[in-house]
Amino acid sequence: MDNLFDGVKEFNTTDFLEHKELFEKIGRNQEPHTLFIGCSDSRIVPNLITKTLPGELFVIRNIANIVPVYRESEEFLATTAAIEYAIKVLNVANILVCGHSNCGGCNSFYMDGSVGNNIPHTRKWLELAKNVKDKIDSEKIVDVTEREWKTEQLNIVEQMKHLLTYPYIREKYKNKELNILGWYYIIQTGEIFNYDSKEKVFVKIE
Ligand SMILES: [Zn+2]
Repeated sequence: MDNLFDGVKEFNTTDFLEHKELFEKIGRNQEPHTLFIGCSDSRIVPNLITKTLPGELFVIRNIANIVPVYRESEEFLATTAAIEYAIKVLNVANILVCGHSNCGGCNSFYMDGSVGNNIPHTRKWLELAKNVKDKIDSEKIVDVTEREWKTEQLNIVEQMKHLLTYPYIREKYKNKELNILGWYYIIQTGEIFNYDSKEKVFVKIE
């Protein structure tokens, strides 16, 4: 635990001072350009991989970077509320869905049925990506690594589609006021692949 407290002290004497003017500037107002939707996985650090500073990314993180399909009813949904706020109030220019390699959430689709019994909320949450599992199952991929990568990548594409079920996102996207991006991040190499929606492939950013 001490490392958390030591971290604050170090932040105050190093990074904060380095960006003091920026923190003063953004202290009372945020104008992020991008809504970043990523996995809760501890290995994903949105600002690090995009080299962005505080104030630039409005971030939503949940298990397996899922976007629930739009529903009109008002509910206690953290992800949906944050999407609504980012688009309607903050007017971000981009939405970036970032999936990653070795995603426990995506791979848990293939867990033995009994494994998830002690994590009922996680299990329920992942039902939102059931269509991903169904599509991958229909491909009958034998190689486990290949299946994992394809699951993680298809999951990104599906969540990009889910974004377009939100009427206010669809409208802005159609009017070219909003970009929707899908990235696949490989943790061990640092490589990031951007989804080309015309060619339907992930292309390495370089
Ligand atoms: Zn993940």
